[in-house]
Amino acid sequence: MNKNLLFTVLIALLGAHGAQGQQTTSQSKLTISMEKRKALDSGSGVIISNEIQEWNPNETAIIICDMWDQHWCKGATERVADMATHMNKVISIAREKGVLIVHAPSDCLDPYKNHPARKTVQQLKTKKFKGRINADKLSIEDKAVWPIDDSDNGCDCFPECAHGSPWRKQIETLKIDDKDAISDSGEEIAALFDQRKINNVILMGVHTNICVIGRTFGLRSMIKLGKNVVLMRDMTDIMYDSKQSPYVSHFTGNSLFIEYVEQYICPTIVSTDFTKEKQFRFKKDNRQVIGFITAENEYRTNEKFPAFAHDLLMTKNVQCEYAIGSPMTEGPGIHNIENLQMLKDADLIVTCVRRRALEPEKMGLLKSYIQSGKPLLAIRTSSHAFDAKGNVSRSGGGVVASNVPVADQLAQWPEFDKDVLGGNYQGHYGHLQEGTDISIVPGMESHPLLKGVAPKGFVSPSWLYINRPLRSENIQVLLSGSIPGEPAQPVLWINKHATGKVIYTSLGHWDDWKIESFNNLMTNAVDILLKK
Ligand SMILES: [Zn+2]
Repeated sequence: MNKNLLFTVLIALLGAHGAQGQQTTSQSKLTISMEKRKALDSGSGVIISNEIQEWNPNETAIIICDMWDQHWCKGATERVADMATHMNKVISIAREKGVLIVHAPSDCLDPYKNHPARKTVQQLKTKKFKGRINADKLSIEDKAVWPIDDSDNGCDCFPECAHGSPWRKQIETLKIDDKDAISDSGEEIAALFDQRKINNVILMGVHTNICVIGRTFGLRSMIKLGKNVVLMRDMTDIMYDSKQSPYVSHFTGNSLFIEYVEQYICPTIVSTDFTKEKQFRFKKDNRQVIGFITAENEYRTNEKFPAFAHDLLMTKNVQCEYAIGSPMTEGPGIHNIENLQMLKDADLIVTCVRRRALEPEKMGLLKSYIQSGKPLLAIRTSSHAFDAKGNVSRSGGGVVASNVPVADQLAQWPEFDKDVLGGNYQGHYGHLQEGTDISIVPGMESHPLLKGVAPKGFVSPSWLYINRPLRSENIQVLLSGSIPGEPAQPVLWINKHATGKVIYTSLGHWDDWKIESFNNLMTNAVDILLKK
C-alpha cells in the first residue's frame, strides 16, 4: 500500500467514528486560527496566510493588559467599556476550558492585595527571571516603519483630554475568579508560566501600540521568553489621533497597527476561536467592511489582496477582513477557508477562490451573504470557485473521491458561476507570449467602472478565459479580450442577479496588478459596489 493510499484509508477510518471522536478532540484542545503576514523576498509586500494550531488549554494563558476602570482619555475609557462585556464572555469560556487568565491592570494592584488571584502570584519565586525580562523592540522591527504617528499620545477627542493617571483598578465588567492570577510584572508572570508550564500566550486589552506590545508582560517580552504568542485582534484598541499621520480614522489606525503586528511581531486571532460567534466590533466603528476571500494556488491573491486592501485602508476609511484558504492544489486541509464568520459584518466581498469545497455551515455563511443582496467583486478563478470536480469527503479535506454517504460530503456550489456571476466558464486558451488584447466595449467608454482605464485598452500578460455566451439577462459587458484567430471573449462585466450586484473579471493574473488600468478598475469596482 503506498503512503497516500494509506493516509486516505486512515482518514476514512477516523471519519467512520464520526462526530463522537471529533467532539472529544474539540473538548480537550483549543483550535486556534492564526492570521499571519510574511514579508516577500522582494522586500515590498507581504503574503497573508492562516495557520491552525491545536493547543492544550492547560498550557495556555490569556493576559489582559491594562483594561482599567478609567483612562485620562475619555474616548479610550469608552472603548474599553464597549469591549469589556465581550471580553468577559471570551475569558469565561476560556477559563471553563482550562485556560489560565492573568489580569494585568498596571499600577492598580492595591485593590487586589488580599485577592486569592493576587496571592497565587505573590507566593512565587521570581529570582530566576530577574534581569531576563526584555521588552525592547525585536530585531525584525529595526527596518520596520511605525504605521501611525502616536507622538501626541493619541487622544482623539474634542476638546483634547488632559493627561493624568486616573486609573484605580481593572474595569469591573471583567470578573476575576479565585483561580485566575493578578500581576503587572513580567518577572512574576514569567515565574507563574514557568510553574504552570504555560507555552501559549494570548494577549488582549489596551493599547496595542504602547502597552500590549511594550509592557514587561507584553507581546515582545513574551516572544523573547520563547512563548508561542498571539494577539486577539478584535479585543484590543490603539491610542491614535486621526489628526496625526497617516490621517486615517481612529479605527483604521487600529487596523494599520494590526497589519504591523502580523508582519513584525506575532500572528493574530479573533475571539471567534472561543465564542464561535462573529468577531467583536466597536459600536462607533461605522466603517464599511470589505471581506477578502482567497483560496487558490495560481494567481498570488494571498499577496495581491493584502496590498490592495492596504491601499483601501489608507484611502477609503473601510475595514478589511480576510478569509483565507491554503494556496495549494491538493492535500489535507485544502477544502477549508478560515474566518468566514466575518461575512456577517461584510458590506462587500472580494473573491479569488479555486475549486474548493467547504463545510456545509461555512458554505451556508457564503450563501446567506449572497442571498442578502450584498455585492460581490469576483476575479479570475472565482468562476470555478466552489466546483471541486467530484465529491469531497468531509474528513481529511483532500480531493478524495469517496463513496461514503452524501451527508459526509463537503458542500459545493457549481452553479455559482451561472447563478451569481452570470458567467459560463469553459476553460482557457493557451499562454501566448504576446498576451491578450483587452479593449473597451463600444459605448462603454464613459462608464464609471472604466474611469482611468486606457481608452485604447491594454495588454494583459495572461491567458484568456472562455466565457461565451454569458448566462444572465442582466449583464453589461465592459471589456472584452481577444487573441489571434479566436472569437473575442467578455472579460469584465456587471451582473445584476436576482438579489444583488456582481462585478466579475476574468483578469487577475499577478502581472495584471502591475497595470494601472487594471488597478483603477479594481478601485472603481469597490467604489461602485460600496455605494449605498
Ligand atoms: Zn481623549
